[in-house]
Amino acid sequence: MKPSTPSFTTDVVIGLEIHVQLDTKTKLFCSCPTKPVATKQNAEDVPNTRCCPTCLGFPGSKPVANKKAIDYALKLCLALGCSISETLVFSRKSYFYPDLSKNYQITQYELPLGTSGAVMLSTGKKIGLTRVHLEEDPASLVHPDSIERSAFVLIDYNRSGIPLCEIVTNPELASPEEARDFMKQLNAIFEYLDIFNADTCVVKADANISIKESGYIRSEVKNITGFKEIERALFYEVQRQNAAVAAGEKLVQDTRGWDAAKGITIRLRKKETEEDYGYILDTDIPVIDVTPEWIAQIKKQVPELPAEKVHKFVTTHKIPEEDALVLAQEKLLAEMFEKVAEKIDPILAAKWLRRELLRVMNMTKQTFKDLLIDEHHLIELLELVSTKQITDRTAQKMLEELIVKPFSPKAYVKEHGLGAVSDAGIIEQYCKEAIAENPGVLADYKSGNEKAFHFLVGVVMKKSKGKAVPNEVNSILKSLISH
Ligand SMILES: [Zn+2]
Repeated sequence: MKPSTPSFTTDVVIGLEIHVQLDTKTKLFCSCPTKPVATKQNAEDVPNTRCCPTCLGFPGSKPVANKKAIDYALKLCLALGCSISETLVFSRKSYFYPDLSKNYQITQYELPLGTSGAVMLSTGKKIGLTRVHLEEDPASLVHPDSIERSAFVLIDYNRSGIPLCEIVTNPELASPEEARDFMKQLNAIFEYLDIFNADTCVVKADANISIKESGYIRSEVKNITGFKEIERALFYEVQRQNAAVAAGEKLVQDTRGWDAAKGITIRLRKKETEEDYGYILDTDIPVIDVTPEWIAQIKKQVPELPAEKVHKFVTTHKIPEEDALVLAQEKLLAEMFEKVAEKIDPILAAKWLRRELLRVMNMTKQTFKDLLIDEHHLIELLELVSTKQITDRTAQKMLEELIVKPFSPKAYVKEHGLGAVSDAGIIEQYCKEAIAENPGVLADYKSGNEKAFHFLVGVVMKKSKGKAVPNEVNSILKSLISH
């Protein structure tokens, strides 16, 4: 093995290998379904019911590459700005393990479909990608008890052969926070491309981590499932390495597993090198030409991506970058914003969509896919706000109801008499009452207690049933008191 001569400049060095499941109907090399098949007897997935001689690797079976999976991988490579290989070649990665009934996994070793792309973090830092390639998922090992305690292991080959894209970064991430941000940006790209289904598809990561204090001796943490877990596992591993070095331990390269329940990494084995796998070309699968026409056709399907949306929102719609970043993160939110901003002042629209809409959706646990309201409801609601026909408070409350059961905001305001009280005469009357009823509070305010003033505003708001505009209440109260 070559001695490593790291030339890193940051204290923590992280590289990620992300495995994302592509949302196809069938597996990578056979026609077995990728999702559970519901039968009359069973709505659940029954182990080992979605397999055939090909994905189990029976002698004589012939794999046939799934065009849709290649299309999706190509789409991802193009979105990530990769150089595309002119030919698609598959190799066999040989190892003996029960999750691989063929004793090899079909992957791309020599010639990945995409090379040297990049993902931009929200800070603007670019993280380079070494490669993006296609491979099949192995089977799942099911331990009836914990890994250490189970007397036997069950194998479910339903996942065996599911199409994955592996995305390998350069070791350029400098903290667990950057890794989380990277995953967030990548996830938004998956969603925009429509190649990944958050409900049924799995994202797994292997992470390489090293710290300056050990001379960058790296550990690989395998099989971290889910976006949040990646940051947690990295935090733990950085701390563990720091503590080990501080205790005078000499670190060695190793492969570790992430135990999400305990929140720790466990040493599995010494790190193997790529040479240990003995890659050979898979001659069962013909070499596929990735023609310029094919690339051009897929390129047309790549939509405007989150980074481009952010740029457009900031330059064309003139909204704050912070709002643009939040709005662009979700494709459906970004699209809704664009539609609303055609009719409503974009700054007001951005504020309401990123703050209020997300707050209310969070409250009702709704996602954009199951949202019942559309841009028309929001445009109508925000028209009422921007023309001061209702107060912000009333609009917030209406949005909370609107999201559960859509209705026409304008008709609702009329019907329920929710129009803002902007008649200065009425507000002045309420203010006078508030002052007369609370002489003690007024005295308090006059002796320098600012809070007493807010109390009086509160009394007026209550009298108006929340329909007075707070700014007007403030100024009328102030002028009355100063007289
Ligand atoms: Zn199959």
